[in-house]
Amino acid sequence: MANLSAEQSNVEVRMAQQAGQEAGRTGIYLSPMAQRRADFSDACASLFARLDLADSADVAASLMARAQPDLLIIDLDRFEPSIDLDALADLVARRAGAPVLLLCPFAGVAWLPALMASGPLRYAVTPLDGAALRTMVETTLAQPGAPTCDAAGLRALLDLRTRVQAALDDAEDAHTLAESLCAALCAWPGVLHAGLFLLREGNDLQLVAQQGPDGLLLGALLQRTDRLLQAPLRHAFPGLLAAAGGTAALIEAPEQPGEPALADGLLAHGVAMALGVPIPADGPGAPRGALSLLFDAPRAFSLDEWNTLADVARLAAFGLRLAAIGQENEHLLVRLTYISTMDALTGVANRRHGEELLDKEIKRARRYRVPLALLAFDIDRFKAVNDTYGYPVGDVALRTVADTARAVLRASDVLVRSGGEEFHIIAPHTSAIDGLRMAEKVRVAIEQAQIPGCDHVTVSLGVAQLGEQESGDSLTQRTDAALARAKRAGRNCVELAMQ
Ligand code: GH3
Ligand code: MG
Ligand code: MG
Repeated sequence: MANLSAEQSNVEVRMAQQAGQEAGRTGIYLSPMAQRRADFSDACASLFARLDLADSADVAASLMARAQPDLLIIDLDRFEPSIDLDALADLVARRAGAPVLLLCPFAGVAWLPALMASGPLRYAVTPLDGAALRTMVETTLAQPGAPTCDAAGLRALLDLRTRVQAALDDAEDAHTLAESLCAALCAWPGVLHAGLFLLREGNDLQLVAQQGPDGLLLGALLQRTDRLLQAPLRHAFPGLLAAAGGTAALIEAPEQPGEPALADGLLAHGVAMALGVPIPADGPGAPRGALSLLFDAPRAFSLDEWNTLADVARLAAFGLRLAAIGQENEHLLVRLTYISTMDALTGVANRRHGEELLDKEIKRARRYRVPLALLAFDIDRFKAVNDTYGYPVGDVALRTVADTARAVLRASDVLVRSGGEEFHIIAPHTSAIDGLRMAEKVRVAIEQAQIPGCDHVTVSLGVAQLGEQESGDSLTQRTDAALARAKRAGRNCVELAMQ
């Protein structure tokens, strides 16, 4: 992006023209678009003694077969990676190390690592105005080598990869992983700000983590932190382009995508370059999200750097999947625990779980020297309900009885379906007298409960308070014996157990 006065640039043009022609430089410019070929010719033809314009990879290949030019310029705009990658990669390979300049549209920089793998090349992100294009061509003619990492660059890459690995090892959930990935990326030299976008349910792209200097917040820059696929800057901001399109996007200058609001926002925070790298999804379809990197100065990435960025995105996808699996496992465990401890018909504790809970409450009552009561109840003449109204109505009655009992209990009381139409209530901090009161409340509530499809039902109850040295089995036996006495006493009543 030359910022030269008209006079200066005229001098440079004349010098370059002379240099180009004196050196007898040749070039091939490849673009399928006639206008682009004309524009390039206008801007840069004078840098070459001979400039050939090619409209397809085939034409460029046959020109090259005749004579290799000093510089091959491939303008990727309007080429399709899925169709043209092989032919263009072949052109790069045929250069055998001779200078290549790729001009790559900002929303499709996934081309770069793919073509860099075929041979060394320099690149510039487009659109570029004529002067900037000319400067880029001149620079490439003067220093044709591909961007590479020096020792410090490689050390920084290794450091980044190590930090990302550590982030994955330490991540407890998707959120902490996203936070530490941003921190790892921010530590990469030149990165001013790192952000992570994730696609949530309902195609809602959200900003889930970011790290950068105070005041540089993507939410402010993009005017929102969720529904980002609908954000006004979705066509311009590389992180959003990458998340939406599933392919890397790069702007080498804030003004490049032609959005003054974005350019102002970036420039105000000293951002010179912005990159978006998609986080791939597990299967086909939309990507999972994107990494957004904002840099304090423009720079060209080497193939190692492109590959590392893609690796970071893949690791992020993997880590996020692992976090999701961890969360799914927790849900499964909760469901499994529920299924194995709860009675399916009534949703109260099943017998086995009830026995475990009783043991636990007995230990607690002993340790804290507090009373514990156990209640037993059984629906009166329930066989008749089934016989008269049918088994499904009997099931509804069982559920209603359980719901009614649960509604009068305290949160600390536990209702257990011990089998058939028999239930127990474990009542911590409850003496025999309080247990009797509780039993009476349950009896009255059930007697008054409306049962859809049949008459009312009643229950008989037995109550016992835990003795000093008593076991769970003994407490249960005494409670059940009291219940049996209530049945013998005529049903729909409460009996207190003997010591
Ligand atoms: P009592 O007053 O002496 O308790 O008489 P009862 O008829 O309730 O006692 P009995 O033990 O003779 O009958 C219990 C009935 O409970 C028989 C059985 O079919 C019914 N039952 C047990 N489990 C279920 C169930 O899950 N659903 C339904 N609908 N009925 C059940
Ligand atoms: Mg019964
Ligand atoms: Mg029974």
